[in-house]
Amino acid sequence: MGANLIDGKAIAAQIKDEVRQEVSALKVQGSSVTLAVILVGDDPASAVYVRNKKKACEAVGIESVSIELPADTTQEELLERIASLNAREDVDGILVQLPLPRQIDERAVIDAIDPAKDVDGFHPVNVGLLAIGEPAVVSCTPAGVIELLTRSGVEIEGKEAVVIGRSNIVGKPMAHLLLQRHATVTIAHSRTKNLREVIRRADIVVAAVGKPRMIGASDIKEGAVVIDVGINRDMETGKLCGDVDFDSVAPHCSAITPVPGGVGPMTIAMLMRNCCELAKKRNPPAEK
Ligand code: NAD
Repeated sequence: MGANLIDGKAIAAQIKDEVRQEVSALKVQGSSVTLAVILVGDDPASAVYVRNKKKACEAVGIESVSIELPADTTQEELLERIASLNAREDVDGILVQLPLPRQIDERAVIDAIDPAKDVDGFHPVNVGLLAIGEPAVVSCTPAGVIELLTRSGVEIEGKEAVVIGRSNIVGKPMAHLLLQRHATVTIAHSRTKNLREVIRRADIVVAAVGKPRMIGASDIKEGAVVIDVGINRDMETGKLCGDVDFDSVAPHCSAITPVPGGVGPMTIAMLMRNCCELAKKRNPPAEK
């Protein structure tokens, strides 16, 4: 069976186009959309992520407010910054780039963000809303996976879905989203027994582990849909690779995402969409 390649780049471009149109419609109405991005310290990878997020904002017409703080910033200082962004009328979304320096408690920082401006969907209020199936801001990466599936015509209802990884930002929200769409969901993780057998049951596999090519052809049911969230550096070639051994797995599935060019581009696209949605909620379109 030849696999359909799910083109994350193309789907992300489509979503960014939709956001661009919404942002310009809001502008016509007199409202702008603004994302505040806080970067603490000088971690080079974080700096690249922040730069890419700002570029994406520019491309869709979202204003960005950039706050760069030194590595020795105290928790109190950061919480004060967040409080002032919470209070700013012109700020629709607030994002604190993770990880944070050691002296700062990540949980306290996430909890301090106004849930109505929590563009990453990490605040416990949004996590709770997602868990009970109410409208919520949803973590960008798993939200992006759902878009990849639905826009590629993959049916979710009634399917066996196995999510590998149980992190708060990918695995757990992913499982909730699949459950909401009526899949039968299993969450596998580092302590799962007979992991390979569990994965082989799946019609839809979402791998979010962070281990280069840990999933091979013999782990996958013939015809399954495979979504690879992992982003790893191949030690031998220095290139990026996923958790799935793409070359051996692809011939056995009905659809698969590549790394790079699969889930990766979706994360930023969904961040833009979340920000636009938050702005629309704060400034509902005028009645016609
Ligand atoms: P994490 O380290 O927080 O979680 C990894 C999960 O994998 C854990 O829940 C753990 O139980 C599970 N795990 C570890 N070893 C395992 C094993 N041998 N078998 C089964 N499960 C195992 O990571 P995360 O933040 O959820 O990210 C996972 C991967 O996704 C990473 O490679 C990360 O870089 C990538 N990622 C990509 C994007 C994107 O935009 N594409 C976004 C976020 C994360």
